Amino acid sequence: MMNSEIKALREEINKIDVELIKLLQSRKQITNSLIQNKIEHHLSVLDEVREKEIINNFIENSNSLNPVFIKKLFNLIFDDSKRQYYKLEQLNSIEDYLKRRPIFIAGPCVVESYYQIDKIAAQLIQCGIKFLRGGTFKPRTSPNSFQGLGDEGVKLLYSAARKYNMFTVTEVLEVEHLERNYDLIDIVQIGSRSMTSYGLLKSIGQLTAKTQKVVLLKRGFSATISEFLQAAEYILQAGNNNIILCLRGIRTFEQIDSTLRFTPDLASILELKEKTKLPVIFDPSHSCGISDFVVNISNAALQLGADGVMVETHYDPKASKVDAKQAIIPDKVLDILNL
Ligand code: PEP
Ligand code: MN
Repeated sequence: MMNSEIKALREEINKIDVELIKLLQSRKQITNSLIQNKIEHHLSVLDEVREKEIINNFIENSNSLNPVFIKKLFNLIFDDSKRQYYKLEQLNSIEDYLKRRPIFIAGPCVVESYYQIDKIAAQLIQCGIKFLRGGTFKPRTSPNSFQGLGDEGVKLLYSAARKYNMFTVTEVLEVEHLERNYDLIDIVQIGSRSMTSYGLLKSIGQLTAKTQKVVLLKRGFSATISEFLQAAEYILQAGNNNIILCLRGIRTFEQIDSTLRFTPDLASILELKEKTKLPVIFDPSHSCGISDFVVNISNAALQLGADGVMVETHYDPKASKVDAKQAIIPDKVLDILNL
């Protein structure tokens, strides 16, 4: 039985919480107007100095609240404002977005239809995500499995992405796939299985050298770190410096009897960050293959200093045509750090 004092205190707390929520809503409305106004006047919206000022002011003036709590609380509020801005902003150059951290790439394993990719993109932009991935030329283990929609898939991915001011990320298996779709692919992915296709690395490097199109190179699942770095070197030497390295799990003895699809190579983040200046991102989805683990592994990767993550998302994960077991719903990405 609750005593009357507890009851009364709880009621007071409830009243305060109602006020808190109202205040947060009003704050959000005002920041939205501020964002809108800055966008209209072409002013820079992100302002880290002001963010720090706000936090420091509160830390100085509040003696009963823990500074760490204040910092965390306001960072959550600022992240929410940033997402609002990312939703509204016009698309600037891809370089601007690649400077932001984390680099967040999300989308389905494979583009299945316009309805599917449009629906996923619409949900992802609500979370402030600017990079839309979707497989179109799929490297399937079996030739009898769905191979992706090919050129048609790239068109669908591009129209959904641009509708929401997003960039496209898709894998190619042959240089012709990129040649035919050059302007529709913002970031070209070289998959794990192609990491040692040195002819492909050279020709993709040469083809992208002139425009310095971003190449997302995934680690071969049996490749050592030095083999991975040398694969990147092929692209660099062909004239393109714009490379993002993506760890995606490796094959170890764990695959004999564990349910993990691969072994997440998290410690390799630390090693790569020491050995190269190229951005290093992590793919939690392929590296473990289990949707329930994806958020935690993403957070672990970001804590270890990864520059970003690439996460497979689908509005109805179980209905994904490919890799259904590892997809998460778009909203779940909000559980990932610093987003
Ligand atoms: C992918 O990201 O779509 C993919 C096929 O991943 P990987 O090459 O790492 O297997
Ligand atoms: Mn996949």
